[in-house]
Amino acid sequence: MTTTSAPPAAASAIPKASLPNEENPKDQDQNQKSPAKEVQISKPKYRLHAEDLRHPESASFSIYIPDVTATLDTALGHIVRYLYTSPEYGSTEELKSAPKLKRPHFVPSIPQTRSVTLFLRDFGGVAYTTGTELDDDHKEIHLSLPYITHCKNSAAKADPVHELAGVLTHELVHCYQHTSPPDSGKDGKDIPGPPGGLVEGIADFVRLKAGLSPPHWTRPTSSSQREKKWDAGYQHTAYFLAWIEDVWAGEGAVGMLNDRLLRVGYVGEEEDDEDCHEGGFWKSLFGAGVAELWDEYGQWLDDGEKKTKGNWEEEIINPV
Ligand SMILES: [Zn+2]
Repeated sequence: MTTTSAPPAAASAIPKASLPNEENPKDQDQNQKSPAKEVQISKPKYRLHAEDLRHPESASFSIYIPDVTATLDTALGHIVRYLYTSPEYGSTEELKSAPKLKRPHFVPSIPQTRSVTLFLRDFGGVAYTTGTELDDDHKEIHLSLPYITHCKNSAAKADPVHELAGVLTHELVHCYQHTSPPDSGKDGKDIPGPPGGLVEGIADFVRLKAGLSPPHWTRPTSSSQREKKWDAGYQHTAYFLAWIEDVWAGEGAVGMLNDRLLRVGYVGEEEDDEDCHEGGFWKSLFGAGVAELWDEYGQWLDDGEKKTKGNWEEEIINPV
């Protein structure tokens, strides 16, 4: 889904996952500098279901995306890189001596999604993702054929290849992101879920980092240009998350956030966070509640170049 009018991802689209052993010493060895660990992922089976071959956009799709496997594998590579890769630190001390904030660090746990079926169908909207009724390890991405027509005729002159790859990347994130611990909802455990705007913002964060943002996205250059709320979703939340990753906390921040949703849920780590689970969640990750982070983000935008540390804009425009 790429428009602000689209509903958030269906709950069934979000994978359930088992937790790896966090105490595994192999995973916790921080004392030796080593290259980033390879994230083990079993490649899902991809299936393509063209519902109506006489629909002219069915042929268009195969021209724009001739190798669906390659497009989805590229998207999966971006998901692994931006959600499931934890930075390496030279030592535990280096990790602890982070400036003002915890440095992003986590043990990646990527869902073992077994198959993704792409449906090309004639329906209104852009795209959506669901789990299947039988088994949530299997996902379905439904892509609107009329949307391909819209891309071709877009006043913004969006490149359909670029746009379709962007939409598919966004949807594939929904097949692989976390929203809650695996035991949430069982045995009376009722762990609050994240707002839909955060779920959609993470999907567009990966799309942004993948260099697949569409022409109509505009990074705000002042606090007044932002949406009013941090969880407005989609690109609005994506730019906020990119600021947290690139400016506030460092590489791996959004991956750590995604990981915390799996391990703890959208709650703080401390018991006294219960009354304000949202504030506790953000504070335990980034040393500040989300309202404070949103204010800092606005301040940073208003300060413009004066405060620029690194090359945030360049990073987003020319992701490496
Ligand atoms: Zn979405």
